[in-house]
Amino acid sequence: MLNKDLVELSELMSGGEAEIIPIMTEENIKDLSVSDMPESLPILPLKGNVFFPGVIIPITAGREKSVKLIKTAYKNKQIIGIVAQKSADIEDPTIADLYKVGTMAKVIKTLNMPDGTTMVILQGMDRFSLEELVQTEPYWEARVIEYPDGAKDLPENYMALAEAVKDMYLRVLKMVPNIPADPSFAIQNIENHYFLLNYVAAHLDVNVSEKQKLLEINDFSKRANKVLSILSKELELQKLKLEIQRKVSSDMDKQQRDYLLTQQLKTIQEELGDKAKKESDIEELRKKIYDCKMPKAIEEKALNELSRYAMLSASSGESSISRTYLDFIISLPWSNKSEDCKDILKAKDQLDKDHYGLDKVKDRILEYLAVCIMTQKTPQAILCLVGPPGVGKTSLAKSIAKAMNKQFIKQSLGGVKDESEIRGHRRTYLGALPGRILQGMKRAGTINPVFLLDEIDKLTSDYRGDPASAMLEVLDAEQNKFFSDNYLEEPYDLSNVFFIATANYLENIPPALRDRLEIVQLSSYTEYEKFEIAKIHLIDKQLEIHGLSKADFTLTDEAIWMLIREYTREAGVRELERYIGTLIRKAIKTILMNKENKIVIDENNLTSWIGKPRFSYTKLDEIDQVGIVTGLAYTQYGGDTLPIEATCYKGDGRLLLTGKLGDVMKESGQAAFSYVKNNCEKLNIDPELFSKNDIHIHVPEGAVPKDGPSAGVALTTAIASLLTHRKVDHTLGMTGEITLRGRVLPIGGLREKSIAAHRSGLKKILIPKENVKDIEDIPETVLKDLQIIPVSTAEEVLEIALLK
Ligand code: ADP
Repeated sequence: MLNKDLVELSELMSGGEAEIIPIMTEENIKDLSVSDMPESLPILPLKGNVFFPGVIIPITAGREKSVKLIKTAYKNKQIIGIVAQKSADIEDPTIADLYKVGTMAKVIKTLNMPDGTTMVILQGMDRFSLEELVQTEPYWEARVIEYPDGAKDLPENYMALAEAVKDMYLRVLKMVPNIPADPSFAIQNIENHYFLLNYVAAHLDVNVSEKQKLLEINDFSKRANKVLSILSKELELQKLKLEIQRKVSSDMDKQQRDYLLTQQLKTIQEELGDKAKKESDIEELRKKIYDCKMPKAIEEKALNELSRYAMLSASSGESSISRTYLDFIISLPWSNKSEDCKDILKAKDQLDKDHYGLDKVKDRILEYLAVCIMTQKTPQAILCLVGPPGVGKTSLAKSIAKAMNKQFIKQSLGGVKDESEIRGHRRTYLGALPGRILQGMKRAGTINPVFLLDEIDKLTSDYRGDPASAMLEVLDAEQNKFFSDNYLEEPYDLSNVFFIATANYLENIPPALRDRLEIVQLSSYTEYEKFEIAKIHLIDKQLEIHGLSKADFTLTDEAIWMLIREYTREAGVRELERYIGTLIRKAIKTILMNKENKIVIDENNLTSWIGKPRFSYTKLDEIDQVGIVTGLAYTQYGGDTLPIEATCYKGDGRLLLTGKLGDVMKESGQAAFSYVKNNCEKLNIDPELFSKNDIHIHVPEGAVPKDGPSAGVALTTAIASLLTHRKVDHTLGMTGEITLRGRVLPIGGLREKSIAAHRSGLKKILIPKENVKDIEDIPETVLKDLQIIPVSTAEEVLEIALLK
């Protein structure tokens, strides 16, 4: 490079390592002329560069011969000859590989470099011509002759030429970026024109042969012209470089500018586009508001909100709240109504088609619908289907909706504690939502759907307000025309909605609500009913849901019975339906994986499909025993038998009750104990027994908590049997509460209890006389095998139960 050596040299010289040699004076140049031309010189071949008279350059010597030569010459202050190598690639050159003309040099300084090489600073003197080698070891030595000295005959115009060279060189230097000021400063101070030529030639960025030519040219003007022509080429080159650089950087600038402008344009377009989008959005919303045909007051409110929304910036939180509100208002049904079907026969058909049995229930529902059709409005009292889970409450409501051509929606009220869940939150609350009623209406999409309020008995109240009172407003035909929701802030008309409520326990429905309800009681299914429901409805329904054809899947009757008796324990058929669904899914998998055509599931292979049975029903004791009585219980899974055991041992008259009993049942135990104690004479019991013994009553079997006022008679019988030592008929079951005076009080769930008694193989049951009216609820299949014996006193009970 043109500038590299210059920089290195100036750095080296200013680094203080080398002697500072004043190179620019005439004196100096004279010093450098060799007065006595030696006959031979140690020769140092130079790779990749040409050495010029007068110039100081550092070179690095790596070759062993060269290092030896330099060290010896430096020590002996001997002059050496530098000759350029024709090719830099040759490590061990012969004389043919060297140029003929070289430059003599003084070794000014040697430096040992950290990388093992030797740096030597040389100053050029006169040129010489290489004649022949006289020695090759330890380094080359050659015979040399003088080369004519060009400085001696300068042409007339040498000054002008030298100035031109200097000038041109300075111009080139200026164009090379990052050049230190020293070289141009040095050049300006060179007074010897011949040296100037050498100096510039030494630093030209041309190849070795070109430089060598320059060295060999003797004629000053020829050499100057050659240098000038190289410099002018260099100048052009630099100009071109600069031009290219400028162009490149201006291209870059342009690119950057373009980029910035495009970005700005984009932002502007987005802003404009957003605005345009928002405008069209607002127009759309406005149209939707008008299309909804809402009451005038609400329409006005919606339009006001719309104007507010239009003013808000899209990125503000307010804007999204406002938008959600508008969307909600629009999505609520205001005028959209489905055409009611008023055909009572069609309703009957639908109910019959979807449900097995439930005759009484269906009748009640049809009566209710008939009134609706007749009066052309929804009745004052709301239909409420009460019964255990899975007995078809929801599906009855769905059938009603289907029969009347209404939309159906179900909203669960289970666990609703807070009034705002019914009525919604004020919009000022963060994340405010409308209440469940209006959310349901939104889903319905019409103003006259069948709206099922599921589990109305599970509404609870706490400090956050009473949801039941909000429900009152929903259910009251007088008030629900103007149902107020905190989120909507305007009254909403619920008067066209056909509400149906469901509950598991009538007792748990808040009393205020119960007044508004037309209760229709559903009870547990008998095993036989479950079997029929599964066979007629559930299998087909599940096959259809899963897309399997009837021909591909058979569940035998025996397998259905097993499912009912050993895999499920429920009042309804929900678990049963789930099991059927599971079996169908497994069958589909087997059909696809094993390429089977048809799956038959029977009692023998059922366990391989769904595992071992989960339940075994309480089985009947085989023999009559003292102190062991079968009570009947009513649990949320339907009825079950409740075996009661009594025993006594020496003690001081205490009564011990165990077996996961609730308070009510413990009190029943106390009452039974008191009754027997009080009537010991009548019963032929030694009163002493009470004071000398402790009595322990245990209600084993099952982890189901047992409570409810219906075990009194069974507990009395157990204690009496124990103390009289009279056995109890093991085929007898009993239910009923008892007063201290021995009166038998009525119970609930007779149907369920009788079904359970029948299922467990009892032959007769004692029931309170006041429950006789409920005998009609007991299914025929049960009555056929089960003797029902009404009783009104404990005396009667003991008369029948205790064997002689
Ligand atoms: P609930 O609402 O009382 O808890 P569902 O209505 O959800 O019970 O009933 C559970 C499943 O049992 C539904 O698939 C339903 O169709 C079916 N089901 C219940 N009772 C009958 C019935 N008598 N006839 C036909 N299917 C019934």
